[in-house]
Order: sequence, then C-alpha cells, then structure tokens
Amino acid sequence: MSTTPALEIQDLRKTYDNGVEALKGVSLTVKPGDFFALLGPNGAGKSTLIGAVSSLVNPSAGRIDVFGVDLQARRSEAMRLVGLVPQEINFNMFEQPFDICVNYAGFYGIERAEAEQRAERELKAAQLWDKARVMSRTLSGGMKRRLMIARAMMTQPKLLILDEPTAGVDIEIRRSMWRTLKEVNAAGTTVILTTHYLEEAESLCRNLAIIDKGRIIEQGPMKSLLAKLDVEAFVLDVDGQLPSTLPQIDGLKLEASDDHTLVLEMPRSRDMNGVFAALDGAGIRVRSLRNQTNRLEELFVRLTGQAQEQQA
Ligand code: ADP
Repeated sequence: MSTTPALEIQDLRKTYDNGVEALKGVSLTVKPGDFFALLGPNGAGKSTLIGAVSSLVNPSAGRIDVFGVDLQARRSEAMRLVGLVPQEINFNMFEQPFDICVNYAGFYGIERAEAEQRAERELKAAQLWDKARVMSRTLSGGMKRRLMIARAMMTQPKLLILDEPTAGVDIEIRRSMWRTLKEVNAAGTTVILTTHYLEEAESLCRNLAIIDKGRIIEQGPMKSLLAKLDVEAFVLDVDGQLPSTLPQIDGLKLEASDDHTLVLEMPRSRDMNGVFAALDGAGIRVRSLRNQTNRLEELFVRLTGQAQEQQA
C-alpha cells in the first residue's frame, strides 16, 4: 500500500482581510485510508482549514499536498481527488436524487452512461435507491444528508471531506450518516470530518487532530489520546440524604453536587472497592453510578486549558 499521505499540510496560515488570523501555522498529516476527525470549538479554524483543502479559501502561506499532489501548483489535478460535503444542504429540492447525482457528475465531465451507473451505485450505498425518483424535498432529514454524501461520491474522490456533517441534526440522523460514512471509508476512501460533537469523533475516527484558536494543539490516534486521561469522573446517585460531612478518601476528590448526588474523581489505576467501603462506613448507599462526561470532552477541556496556559 502506498505510504504517500492522503493529506499533508505544512505550516498553513490564513489571515482574512479583516485581520483575523484564522490559521496560525497548521501542520497535519492524514494517512491514506484513514478516518480522521478535526475537532475543535466554534471559531477554532476548522472551516477555514477545510476550505483551504477544498480550494474555497486561499491560504496566506503554507503548503497542501493531496495524495502527493501540490494543491497550489497542480490545483485541478489535486481537486479531482477531493470530494466535499458542505455543512448546508445545497441541492435543488425540486430535483430527484438520481438527477442530482447524474447532473453533478456532468459538471465534472463524466459521461452520462457512466454517471448513471455511478448514481445507481452511490444511491444504493447511501440506502436511497428506492428514493431515486422522488422529489428530494420529500426526503427525510437523514436521507437528505446521505444524498449529500452520495452526490460527493459521484466523482469517486480518494479523499472525502465533510464540514460538520451532523451539526444540529438529531441522533437518528447522525447514526444513519455515520453508517454511510463507515461504509464509504471501508470501501477505501479516506474520510476527514470536522465536528464539535466529541461523541462523533470517538465513535467514527481512528485518528484526530484538535484545533483551537488556529493552532493544532494535539494530534494522534484516538486511543492514545484517550489513554492520556488518567483521571475519571463518576456521578453517584445515593439513596436518601447525604450526611453533612463526606468521608475523606485518600487521593480522591469527592463532592456533593446536590442532596443525593456525589461526584467522584479518581485515577484510573485505583479500584472502586475502597471507595465503596468508605461510603458504606459513612452510611452512604450508592444506588447507581455513571461516567460524568464523555472522555473525549474531558480530554478536550484539559488540552485547551493547557494550551491557554502555554500561550499566556
Ligand atoms: P470553525 O469552523 O472552527 O468554527 P472558522 O474557520 O469558521 O472556525 O473561523 C475561524 C476564525 O476566522 C473565526 O474567528 C471566524 O470569525 C473567522 N472567519 C471565518 N471566515 C471568515 C471570513 N470569511 N472573513 C473574516 N473572518 C472569518
């Protein structure tokens, strides 16, 4: 298998005309076949970065290579390798999915007979074949978003980029998109998506980069980033009222968040037995227990906190 990165970005900078420095020297490598998340809060620079890779934004400095093709020097060649799913649904609601796909291929000079074959394949892959001939307006929200993916796949991109594909959509729609995206990736297309849904990155992506204020503050495999989290926080629901003083448990932080709820922070290496013994000794009966936050969310909060300290 080729080792040329699907995407290599070196020291990319973008200053908008109004003086906003949206990217302050971003370097990033995405392996071929990867499912990669670009994660960051609003205003971090995600759309600017995606825009630069899909030639919608002119970078101020830096270099982008798509499968080894320099985007600046060989722009149209590089762009043929990239498919983009924008954030907003932007097809004609009065056209049928089949025609939307075929016409899109037409813009890229793909012959009609070939385009029709591809449309069938992509609409089937997106579970939309039975809707190929309905008016798009009548599709459900999830179907409309899957149609956006099917349309982008018409040019057979080697790299599919999605800008916040599931922003503001409910969990059912997100899950149906995730399934389609997993299949697209399993069939060999490298997928990059931007998201601020941490759960999305965690359930889909093998590798990720975290961007904050125009800088990459962390990148690597999802698993090793999660392993950096050595402290876990739990919420404990207790029976009855809590006593006015809580037991002290060595090395752990235990706080009441209300009359019958405790928040416990403990290192991953510790076991729970001592905690329960101490709570039992204090007459506290735990009814149920759950993780306080999504682990990735915790990680993100910590990393961005660290980055702020370093910049200060
Ligand atoms: P994200 O996608 O992570 O929310 P963006 O890339 O959209 O972040 O924005 C990064 C920064 O650049 C923000 O401060 C935003 O206000 C600014 N910005 C984005 N687009 C433009 C533009 N066209 N002109 C001026 N500033 C912009």
